[in-house]
This record gives sequence, C-alpha cells and structure tokens, in this order.
Amino acid sequence: MKIQRHLDSQGLTGLAEIHPDGRATQLEGDLLTGVRSTDRPADIAKILAPIEPGVVLCSGMNYRKHAEELGAKPPERPVLFIKTASCVQNPGDPILIPTHLASHEVDYECELAIVIGRTAKNVSKENALDYVLGYTCANDVSARDWQIKLSSGQWCRGKIFDTFCPLGPWIVTKDEIPNPDALRIRTILNGATMQDSTTADMIFSVSELIAFFSASTTILPGTVILTGTPSGVGMARKPPVWLQAGDSVTIEIEKIGSLTNPVALE
Ligand code: MG
Repeated sequence: MKIQRHLDSQGLTGLAEIHPDGRATQLEGDLLTGVRSTDRPADIAKILAPIEPGVVLCSGMNYRKHAEELGAKPPERPVLFIKTASCVQNPGDPILIPTHLASHEVDYECELAIVIGRTAKNVSKENALDYVLGYTCANDVSARDWQIKLSSGQWCRGKIFDTFCPLGPWIVTKDEIPNPDALRIRTILNGATMQDSTTADMIFSVSELIAFFSASTTILPGTVILTGTPSGVGMARKPPVWLQAGDSVTIEIEKIGSLTNPVALE
C-alpha cells in the first residue's frame, strides 16, 4: 500500500491510500498502530512528508562506487550519523540554501529511506525486516563546506540545516518491496541524471544497517533510517556541481516513486 500524508482543505492532517490508477482514498487510523482503507475520496490540499520522525539515523559512505569516487576505503562497519526532526521537508517544498550561516556547497544525495514500525533493539540481521513498516525516498541534502572543511571532524553541522531532509512522496509498505537491496535509485537535477545506481551497490544491506544501528540502542517506531547515497554526488564531479536557487531536484526509486523539491535561498 502507498500511504500519503497530507493537509486537507480544512487544514487537518490526514492519510490517504494512493491506488495504482492514481486515485486517493481516505485512510482511517494511524501510521504506526495501523491504517484501515475506506472508499471515501481523500481531500488533499497539500502533500506532507509521509512521516514526522523523532530522529533520522543515517548511514554514510554505504555505496561501493561512492566510496570509490571519494577515494575512500569502504568502511568496516556502518558509519552512523543523525539528522534531526527539524530538517525534514515536504515533497514540493523548497530546499533552502543557508544564508545566515552561509553555505556555498550544498549537495544532493538520493537515498532509500527505511521507516521503522516497531521498537527495535538488538535485532538480528535475519529478523531485521520484521521491524520495517515501509520505505520512502529521501534526499540527504548536505552542505559540504560545513560537513567537511569547516566541521572540525563531525558531519552533523553540514547535514542538519532546516529543509535538508526531504522525504516522500509516500510510504510504500514493505509487502510491496520484498527485496529492498535491489532497487534502481536516481537523482535528476534540472532534467539531467546525476546519480543512477541500484541499492545492490550498498556495502551494508537494509537488514545489516537495522541490526547494527539497533545494537544496544533502542530505535523507536517512526524512526527513519537513511541508507547512504550512490556515486554521482555534486562534490565528486569535476568541476563540482552545487545546488543553486531555482534548481529542481528529483529523487526517484524503483517501486516507490519520485520526490521533487525546488531549491531556494533561506
Ligand atoms: Mg547520505
């Protein structure tokens, strides 16, 4: 099932089931405790990010060819950093280039996002998918200057600016994606394909990431896990490509859909 979150014409938050023919019907219930289908057409005034995560756990350097393009050795264990709830952005709303703490090196990163549906702790790789509610598209927007040169060794400063985590356009429940480790994933910037890969290039699989991130660490329902980005990021290009006001960036993942955001100045 494709589950979309939205505001209706009264300004109330609702959930809709998006059908294969594009029809949208109201869903009753709650994303984490269970939804029920209805026949009533959904009243959608504005599409929202499909979930408001408490935190976004992120895997860095998780694609072989991405590590290669950066001249980095593949990590021996998953690299973990976080994005905050406040950087989540809706489909269609702008990615804002920071101007107060100015960045001149804002980059895109297409990523498969896992939505955790049940409390997970010390989960085995074999059981990891039992804890997944579904999947969506993410853009792990990154200010490379504040992530690397100006960061004193921590990535987070460049990763958690407002609007730096677009999610959407909906959650596809896991029954529709039995193998999340073999999905085509792309970034399209102003009509040009910048990243075009498959989640099969991930160093650590979806199950391995959940197992490692939940080790001695509680992952709450509603947490989103970003699984890393493939090769083709702007910073690895010669010359580098940075997002500019007026750009349009789309993340597309097979079996999920596409997430598009314009780019503007803060
Ligand atoms: Mg990333």
